[in-house]
Amino acid sequence: MVLKNKTILITAAGQGIGAASARACAAAGAQVIATDLDAGLLAALGDEPNIQTRVLDVTDQGAIDALAADLPDLDGLFNCAGVVHHGTVLELTDADWNFALDLNVTSMVRMCRAFVPGLLRRAKSEGSAAILNMSSMASSEKGFINRTAYGATKAAVIGLTKAIAADFVARNLRCNALCPGTVDTPSLRGRIASAPDPVQAEKDFIARQPMGRLATVDDLTPTVVHLLSDGSRFVTGQAVLVDGGVTI
Ligand code: NAD
Repeated sequence: MVLKNKTILITAAGQGIGAASARACAAAGAQVIATDLDAGLLAALGDEPNIQTRVLDVTDQGAIDALAADLPDLDGLFNCAGVVHHGTVLELTDADWNFALDLNVTSMVRMCRAFVPGLLRRAKSEGSAAILNMSSMASSEKGFINRTAYGATKAAVIGLTKAIAADFVARNLRCNALCPGTVDTPSLRGRIASAPDPVQAEKDFIARQPMGRLATVDDLTPTVVHLLSDGSRFVTGQAVLVDGGVTI
């Protein structure tokens, strides 16, 4: 029960890594606020112990501020929301770039503006609080083909994480970034299905993983729980790779 007595908010918790993280944090004793844009997806989590659900669009500062005003101070914030844009710089429109930047990076700035004051209050009274930002191995960690907007914005997440960590390190608020390899989630299945040759696309995703398989969400959640718990109390400002050896 490493998250006992902790209140943790997770964005994009309707499916994939976010939903699995909500369940794992609740199983570790946290009171979880699982948020997502899609109320239908959240319905599956609503009846589970220690999880409450709230609809939240992380591109809407007004909605974020209203939620922050309505909730108790948080001990942990997992900014999980993000989107994959497929293509090189040659196909990247301003609209696609701005959307990727908004959802992958600016959303985290918005969430931190709203929730860091409460996290700092908990850090002061309880001695610790933590932010976890979702990055990727496709970032400043490594370049991948057709990931211009994705890799650049996920690299920005690492820079944002280090800056936040530096600003609040002396006040017991930690901030780390999670950098997964290729994870079998609904959005990955969508990318595979929409490829010209889905069978080959799945083989290609597996081929870039040296362990010979995709990650499952359960390969990620122990690290999520650890980075939000006091077990990682001396870890801050780090880009933590859970990539099955891609970047060895
Ligand atoms: P997913 O893409 O399957 O699900 C995304 C969720 O985000 C959905 O529930 C959707 O409703 C929600 N969402 C979309 N727009 C939103 C918004 N504006 N506000 C709030 N919620 C919104 O999830 P995933 O594949 O588990 O990816 C989650 C995160 O992990 C993303 O940031 C992604 O970039 C990152 N990531 C994924 C992989 C992978 O291989 N799946 C690898 C590395 C990093």
